[in-house]
Amino acid sequence: MAKFSFADADADEDPPPAAAGSDKRKRDGGDGNAMGISMRIDPDLLDCSICFEPLCPPLYQCQNGHVACLSCWSMLSNKCHVCSHDAIFARNIALEKIVESIKSSCAYAKWGCCELVSYTQRNTHEESCFFAPLMCPIPGCGYRGFTGRWSGHFLVDHHSADFLHFVYGQSFEVNLEASLPFLVLLGEDDHLFLLLNKNMTPFGHAFSVVCLRTGDLNWKFSYEIEAASTRNPENCMQLKASVTNAKEWEGLHPTESFLLVPYDFCSSTNITLSVSVGRSASV
Ligand SMILES: [Zn+2]
Ligand SMILES: [Zn+2]
Ligand SMILES: [Zn+2]
Ligand SMILES: [Zn+2]
Repeated sequence: MAKFSFADADADEDPPPAAAGSDKRKRDGGDGNAMGISMRIDPDLLDCSICFEPLCPPLYQCQNGHVACLSCWSMLSNKCHVCSHDAIFARNIALEKIVESIKSSCAYAKWGCCELVSYTQRNTHEESCFFAPLMCPIPGCGYRGFTGRWSGHFLVDHHSADFLHFVYGQSFEVNLEASLPFLVLLGEDDHLFLLLNKNMTPFGHAFSVVCLRTGDLNWKFSYEIEAASTRNPENCMQLKASVTNAKEWEGLHPTESFLLVPYDFCSSTNITLSVSVGRSASV
């Protein structure tokens, strides 16, 4: 059973005597508005004891009070995971109300997120939290940056030769060493993109663009890549695609869209591409 302990400054003081006839069921600030209080609780108590995910209504308990979340309960076949015998499950409405009412700080509070999020929505929020740190993609760097805040790191630190700055909607030429797995592209608004390069032996090089970011921001990005043959410039190829978003690039290349440029289009050491990245408001 969950145990609560008060964590606010008044926790050790005796509660004030209740006025005669007052409603003890709700605490209010004197103006009739419900008032939250700070509490401490062992977060493990708020996770399902079977799948360890945050408890999220509907919640079910056996006749002995052992709780399971909906997806776990649906797999129990009326056998309690603790009692190990036939059980009669029922909804635990009181616990559902408690977990629905609990607000917790975001895991990225120390990076600046001030949001108090519903415990049941915590994972969803943190998946897209704007303050979730992102690893700098330059090998060996180890710096943690944030969505849309990269130019300081790339300009001030040691990467000034390792990226291209670009303006959305304007094409720019990239001369890429064929052996490099990616080139960092920095948008005018400090969003960080990677032009990925994968050697697809025996065909050629596959190029695509990903954006390292978190958060459901107001922008969606697209890109175009053009390549022309070094032997016969009339032979050219082009890709228009939407940019894939990622928290970090772990060496996996997008499979939905990429431009496969034959070796004939490249010199032995370098590849020249025309690239543009577009930005539009997401709906
Ligand atoms: Zn579960
Ligand atoms: Zn049980
Ligand atoms: Zn957050
Ligand atoms: Zn770095």
